[in-house]
Amino acid sequence: MMKKLIAGNWKMNGSLAANEKLLKDILAGMGQGGCQVAVGVPAVYLAQCQALLAGTAIDLAAQDMSAHEGGAYTGEISGAMLKEFGVRYAIVGHSERRQYHGETDDAVALKAQRALGCGITPIVCVGETLAEREAGKTDEVVKRQLAAVIHTNGHCISEVVVAYEPVWAIGTGKTATPEMAQQVHAVLRAQLKAAYEHADRIKLLYGGSMNAANAAQLLAQPDIDGGLIGGAALKAQDFLTIVAAAA
Ligand code: PEP
Repeated sequence: MMKKLIAGNWKMNGSLAANEKLLKDILAGMGQGGCQVAVGVPAVYLAQCQALLAGTAIDLAAQDMSAHEGGAYTGEISGAMLKEFGVRYAIVGHSERRQYHGETDDAVALKAQRALGCGITPIVCVGETLAEREAGKTDEVVKRQLAAVIHTNGHCISEVVVAYEPVWAIGTGKTATPEMAQQVHAVLRAQLKAAYEHADRIKLLYGGSMNAANAAQLLAQPDIDGGLIGGAALKAQDFLTIVAAAA
């Protein structure tokens, strides 16, 4: 059976002192193996976190990356740069990027493609807003978002991680029930299967107020292969509880 992946998304939080304490506390409490673990840190802290995580079982993730290879793109960070800091994963298409930075399905698909070309595993986020869910459009929205990534990446789709993150559940404390999450994961799995016969090997993460109390139930669903964790990733004990639930 494939190992589950628990990836923290620190968002725009942290400081040199807070990062060091958080990572040291997490490392001190981590058990052996069981699941894969990653932390998505702000880009300015990659060097610090790379040093703190060297030789440990925790991988480094970026929260975004450029779709461009390099050049005149002020403020952007390339995949090659991320690789120099030991980055294994890049979150792309997080709903906050889609919402506040106007990232389209196609832009997200190109970021995923660039990540794969750089040897970075993209964690592609998809998810519906509350209005879309209430209008009965959940499946349509997530399928449209994923279709762009499948279309752009062809057979390389086997290398991506997909995170289903209902927008209404992110940072709100409103988690999708395990059944609601599983239902959407099954839709995504079927869509991936149509593109790649071994789609059961593609990790499908759930994200949206996953916490120490609800992680085990969510992770027990057949198509939930891990979690993308925001708020609870900033608290060592909560993050460790989620990691233990995935082992
Ligand atoms: C996220 O931002 O990816 C996320 C899941 O956040 P939270 O866990 O805080 O809802």
